[in-house]
Amino acid sequence: MATMRCVVVREHGGFDRLRLEERPVPTPGPGRVRVRVQAIGLNHLDTWVRRGVPGHTFPLPLIPSSDACGVVDALGPGTRGVAEGDPVVVLPGVSCGACEACQTGLDQLCRHYHILGESCDGTAAEFVDVPFANVAPKPRALTAAEAASICLVFQTAWHMLVRRAELRAGETVLVHAGLSGVGSAAVQIANLLGAQVIATAGGAAKCAKVAALGAHHVIDYRTQDFAAEVRALTGKAGVQVVFEHVGAATFDGSVRCLARGGRLVTCGATTGGDVRLSLHAVFFKSLSILGSTMGSKGDLRQILRLFDQGRLRPVLDRQLPMARVGEAHRLLEARETLGKIVLEP
Ligand SMILES: [Zn+2]
Repeated sequence: MATMRCVVVREHGGFDRLRLEERPVPTPGPGRVRVRVQAIGLNHLDTWVRRGVPGHTFPLPLIPSSDACGVVDALGPGTRGVAEGDPVVVLPGVSCGACEACQTGLDQLCRHYHILGESCDGTAAEFVDVPFANVAPKPRALTAAEAASICLVFQTAWHMLVRRAELRAGETVLVHAGLSGVGSAAVQIANLLGAQVIATAGGAAKCAKVAALGAHHVIDYRTQDFAAEVRALTGKAGVQVVFEHVGAATFDGSVRCLARGGRLVTCGATTGGDVRLSLHAVFFKSLSILGSTMGSKGDLRQILRLFDQGRLRPVLDRQLPMARVGEAHRLLEARETLGKIVLEP
């Protein structure tokens, strides 16, 4: 039987928990396709899967990673609209397609929702086997590595800004960590929507790169108090939308940055999820606190068209061989990169 190399997490812990193993090459079942992987995109989610999350159970052993680009190399029975040899990106959210949430285009609210590499085997392998609805044509303008770096973060940021916060032209948005995966997506999407973008970043190199992505003002959070800067930049009025994913370290300041009627939208809490919130601020200022996770496959197909048109850009730091996955996690956790990290099997 043909085998493939893949990354496997058998126990949570340090970088040494990322083991390279051999597994049988998957045979796609009904409605599924097999993709020969050329590039694997890493996300912060990968580090949570490796480290573990208190109170959450991951189905170990698990192949991590949610994003990939490759070529379709086998079709199961009953697939449509995809052929062997097609260059594709893998869409990271798997849903049933038949329930009310799915049929409303809210895939991520499906009771059977899975994220590849989180609740089922992911993309850190030489081959991956997914439903045919979970592949889409690779944007022609992008390299395989670039295309592998975009789906999860752009889908997440799009859903937050377009669907949840309903950011509009002429409004001002504060994007935290504007050179992180979701942050760099948010800066570009907010710009595309015609909003005024204030972003934060740590250090001069990151600040310069965030400005080049289209942020109108960049705050260096290492040397400046972001809430005071936002207050100064907006003439004390505050911003209409705050794009949150940092959590405990920034949440209080984020709420203080909101204008009357402002919306805070959050998809994560990398510095911790327990925060204090004054209900007085929420009702006196008519604030909205919006949770968001992932997004729809339909929106993701629209995002891929925007990449083809050159209106969104991947932000890639470096490519590493899959065998150096531990080093990739270390770089991710140290926030030493100026963009996404992609592995090559
Ligand atoms: Zn469903």
